Amino acid sequence: MDNRQVTVAGAGIWGCTLARVLAEAGYKVRVLEKRSQIGGNVRCETDPKTGIEVHVYGSHIFHTHLPEVWKFVNRFVEFNGYQHKVLARHAGKTYFLPLGLALVNQFFGVELTPREVPAFMADEAHKRAIFDAFFRNYTSKQWGKAPEDIDPTIIQRVPVRATYDVNYFNDYHQGIPASGYNSLFERMLDHPDIALSTAQAFTLEELGTETVFYSGPIDELFGFKFGPLPWRTLRFETERLPVADAQGTSVVNYVDADVPYTRQHEYKHYHPEDKRVMGYPETIVCREYSAEWQPGDEPYYPVNNEESAALLKRYRDEAAQYPNLVIGGRLGQYKYFDMDKSIESALATAKAYLEAHA
Ligand code: UDP
Repeated sequence: MDNRQVTVAGAGIWGCTLARVLAEAGYKVRVLEKRSQIGGNVRCETDPKTGIEVHVYGSHIFHTHLPEVWKFVNRFVEFNGYQHKVLARHAGKTYFLPLGLALVNQFFGVELTPREVPAFMADEAHKRAIFDAFFRNYTSKQWGKAPEDIDPTIIQRVPVRATYDVNYFNDYHQGIPASGYNSLFERMLDHPDIALSTAQAFTLEELGTETVFYSGPIDELFGFKFGPLPWRTLRFETERLPVADAQGTSVVNYVDADVPYTRQHEYKHYHPEDKRVMGYPETIVCREYSAEWQPGDEPYYPVNNEESAALLKRYRDEAAQYPNLVIGGRLGQYKYFDMDKSIESALATAKAYLEAHA
């Protein structure tokens, strides 16, 4: 039983999931987190004055179609039933995303029915007009590149529909933890066989014979020896306003080039069930700016291209030299993960480890 001890380095969504599953399987789990707080970039802070749950690293909306993942998170928190909608501000007007009947009819001043949409949108001029208005400039701001030069799967994240469904996600399950995101992580790690140390970074020199599940940046772990992987970073400009409601919704994308930020978040709208917060005569908004990652910045979005794939392969080959090192998560796998996919990946990693060590 003595060797049933593992280390989880990084207490984000991937690491906390692994820690919990392995602890429940009988392992003693040491969790090391380099920040002073757990939760990775899902970390929130509750504003003491208004009670607003501020998403410190940008909006996180939990959504999934994976029953196993939904069941797992619901063991720890109750979700409030929030359904995400995103609006887009273009040329002085506000539209409902994603690309559906509401947007098309409003943008072109037409009254199409669902069955008329495919033919209308097959017209190259219509397609281009929508793309140029809602995707070209936003994508350039977000990625620092023209949309033709980014991985096409990124834009394909945004649903295309011929209905008035303005839900931003296709996933069946959605919501925000009613008790806040931080409680999700605290409860996941609340297990007698999990020992958490914060403000404690993991370095390769500490790797002994025990298995380490690491979810920090893979290039950083190896001292950037092949050079840094490219990332996009974000900067947030937060403002308190003396109104109960500033924009009437949680996220407005600013899709034009003349606005330097990509979107503005108004966090109180993530908790419509909280009447006190909703009615409080103050609000907090946050404008999000995207930039190329520089050393010292927080990495947010991986920049997937041929060059970064080749660099990633070098780091992965290097990591393969360490049989008791398992690297995962958004930063470790260099992957544009939604939260549910990160949990799915952690559940699969835990399962594989347990089967191999049964
Ligand atoms: N996108 C866009 N205009 C929008 C929304 C999204 O051009 O109004 C593009 C953009 O390239 C973005 C991608 O679609 O990076 C994926 O959007 P999503 O909302 O999924 O991005 P996330 O919330 O993960 O940053």
